[in-house]
Amino acid sequence: MKAVRLYEGAELRVEEVPEPPVGPGQVRVAVRAAGVCGTDLHAAHGRLPVPKLPVIMGHEGAGVVEALGDGVTTCGLGDRVLLLPSETCGSCPACEAGHLGLCPGAQIFGMARDGTFAEKITVPASCALPLPDGVPFEHGAILADAVATAYHAVATRAGITGGERIAVIGCGGVGYHAILLARLLGAKTIVACDASPGALRRAEEAGADATVDVTEGNPRKAIREAAGGGGPELVIEYAGRKDSVELAMASVARGGRVIVGGVGMESPELGPLVSFVGKEIGVLGSMGYTRAELERVVELAASGRLDLSGSITARYPLERAAEALDDLANHRNDPVRLALLPGDAS
Ligand SMILES: [Zn+2]
Ligand SMILES: [Zn+2]
Repeated sequence: MKAVRLYEGAELRVEEVPEPPVGPGQVRVAVRAAGVCGTDLHAAHGRLPVPKLPVIMGHEGAGVVEALGDGVTTCGLGDRVLLLPSETCGSCPACEAGHLGLCPGAQIFGMARDGTFAEKITVPASCALPLPDGVPFEHGAILADAVATAYHAVATRAGITGGERIAVIGCGGVGYHAILLARLLGAKTIVACDASPGALRRAEEAGADATVDVTEGNPRKAIREAAGGGGPELVIEYAGRKDSVELAMASVARGGRVIVGGVGMESPELGPLVSFVGKEIGVLGSMGYTRAELERVVELAASGRLDLSGSITARYPLERAAEALDDLANHRNDPVRLALLPGDAS
């Protein structure tokens, strides 16, 4: 089968490899769509340590079950499925609580084990969830990453129930979906903030009421004015940068909350306690999602309430994986999410 493998020295090769065997409790899935995200880019460029090299890249995928290992009862041959991005240990407190993103033993596909940038992938049956008929494979591929991650931040960590003024800083793949979901959950006002005019345009398409270019003038003032009232009650950060987290804390309303979902190596400063405590600002990290949250976003997509028609902004065959990564790295055509389509994607 054809696969995109990452080698030592950040070298990418599209090559023929043997089909993965199917062991007990596993399923083999013919991949119909794989999502390309920032994590893949960091791995491909050598900015993230990849424990297994060479490795077939990719942790977002959806397809059709084509082989079942012994003892698998949760899915059948020909089932449409979406794949979890990692295999979790199943027995730690996070796993027992269903919080897939917090398992310390999680083995991410495309890094710790072979991933979805291939015609086929073998995964534990517990990593394959049913994909309803009406949801395209390319949407299935991103539901278990960009969409469910945003849902966890917006619905659970931020606790949006309706009527809130919010700001989203960093409107790429996950931020875009945070705006889409905040709108769906009834946020009153959504202010989208980014350094890229293209990302701000996409954010407006996702339902933002106002946009702020953070490279211009006084973004703190602009965010507070655009949100109205005493500023946004919730600020969701998806840029993963020191200055954007500090902007979030400076912009949020008194008594408000900042949800930080952007991951990076920088260290933001808290500012003087008289301001942080005096304004009673809550700052929460947000990582991954629970199985129940993933099932909820799949349901929302299947019912048509969650419109993902703007989510995949370019599609590529497997052979052009390097080009997809390059387009993402250079923000060519203002990407939300890119998809590799190894087979027939209908
Ligand atoms: Zn991802
Ligand atoms: Zn675990």
